[in-house]
Amino acid sequence: MPPHWWGEDLQIRERRELPTPASKTSQALREALKTLVEPLQSQAHRVAIASTGIIREGNLLAINPRNLGGLLHFPLVQTLEDLTGLPTLAINDAQAAAWAEYHALNEDTRDMVFITVSTGVGGGVVSDGKLVTGIGGLAGHLGHTLADPNGPVCGCGRVGCVEAIASGRGIAAAAQGSLAGCDAKTIFSHAAEGDEQASRLIADSAQVLARLIADTKAITDCQRVVVGGSVGLAQGYLAQVRACLERMPPGLSRRIKHGILPPRRGTAGRGIVSARREG
Ligand SMILES: [Zn+2]
Repeated sequence: MPPHWWGEDLQIRERRELPTPASKTSQALREALKTLVEPLQSQAHRVAIASTGIIREGNLLAINPRNLGGLLHFPLVQTLEDLTGLPTLAINDAQAAAWAEYHALNEDTRDMVFITVSTGVGGGVVSDGKLVTGIGGLAGHLGHTLADPNGPVCGCGRVGCVEAIASGRGIAAAAQGSLAGCDAKTIFSHAAEGDEQASRLIADSAQVLARLIADTKAITDCQRVVVGGSVGLAQGYLAQVRACLERMPPGLSRRIKHGILPPRRGTAGRGIVSARREG
């Protein structure tokens, strides 16, 4: 959980980092947030927080409540407002990244979908120039759409989600034999050296992502799909996704591009500062 202090010039002024508390209790999280924001609050005018999970009316939730343990319904906005006395906005991290990427597009696009392929798979939808968070905060959770009804069980509890196959965690979990226990980064390096199993695992991920992009295009008719995240931006990955898309009808496969923002670098702050400046 790294907070940043952003200036109006979109530059990070200061960065601090703490591991998410292992105990997963509200008290531990509140203490960790306090440690992080206290030294920054006198210099800030507002707080924006991007968090994994579903943000509903300022509270933290999950598709599968079991994943959050004691943090379910944690009052994220209220806690930060109490700690800092500053107006606070909370948003899902992938939705925040989508908003930041949308503002970085620099083109006449009103409808964009951002998909981040990293440890998990997340996303965000911008429709007619507005970020769609959904009435319950769920909009854009593209990683939990179905990729394979006979696939592995996802962290959310559903069988065969996109995330269970395409994400870094999914790639690593499917590794066997000589690659068993390797993380996605290591599997990518093995693939670059020509390892057959590693290449197949990455190709499976790219194939699943390409199908998700085509589905997303069919559902939203977006003008752009932007792919980010540490897997999404890994060398050669998007080229594989594009190759899969080229085998589909052209109407479902055009206008795909790399995200330009480095993964997990204060995207909420960047999105909010740039939205204020431009809108
Ligand atoms: Zn899922």
